[in-house]
Amino acid sequence: MEPRPPGFFQMVRTFLRASTRESAAILRGDPEMPAEEIARRYAICRSNICGQYMPLDDRCAACGCNVPKKIAWRTAACPDGYWPALPPPPPAC
Ligand code: SF4
Repeated sequence: MEPRPPGFFQMVRTFLRASTRESAAILRGDPEMPAEEIARRYAICRSNICGQYMPLDDRCAACGCNVPKKIAWRTAACPDGYWPALPPPPPAC
């Protein structure tokens, strides 16, 4: 049986929190996500090691996020701990 995503309001809350964190990273000038890290995250999600990947929708049932969008955000992290957010770059001297 395919896992089910959280309810609509929980997904909206999750999205607003995540987009606030990502907006802050963009405003402080964090660099773009490296393509290799996006590919690495996507491979983990698509392997379905977590049992939460919904291939028909390309969606994560743990958070309800669209996987291709989620993996492209620096500050996003797998809710089950399979991949972390990228740390902010060190401050310039
Ligand atoms: S973000 Fe984590 S829980 Fe969601 S599909 Fe990817 S690996 Fe699975």
